[in-house]
Amino acid sequence: MKISKCSPLPIRIGLAKIRLPSQNFRNSLVLCFDDAFICPHDQDEECKCRKPRTGLLIEASQKYNLDYSRCEVIGDVGSTDMLAAHAVGAMKILVQTGWGKGSLSEYRYTWANVEPDYVAENFLEAVRWLVQ
Ligand SMILES: [Zn+2]
Repeated sequence: MKISKCSPLPIRIGLAKIRLPSQNFRNSLVLCFDDAFICPHDQDEECKCRKPRTGLLIEASQKYNLDYSRCEVIGDVGSTDMLAAHAVGAMKILVQTGWGKGSLSEYRYTWANVEPDYVAENFLEAVRWLVQ
């Protein structure tokens, strides 16, 4: 796994935040981000970038020349992360941490027409599955 250009974590911009999922993960892998694309809008603003809309994914693909048929999206929310990943044709990995278990049960109806490619216990297991 090639990871470069380390950023200090956690990153907080407005209401958005990026945090590593666990201390165990931090101890087992140096994780850095090349970039962060964060929607600064409220949910009711109907912007193009708030998932499940694909504005930020498209922006990232344009900036980094990404082919989403060769990319994976790891997320915990079926109705946003998995739907956005599906819309751009990326592999979808749902983690059961955060909202993940609810996404697989009581909120499954909100993304009923999409199947995750893999359901991981957590982010670390998702990464292990990807690199195996
Ligand atoms: Zn937005």
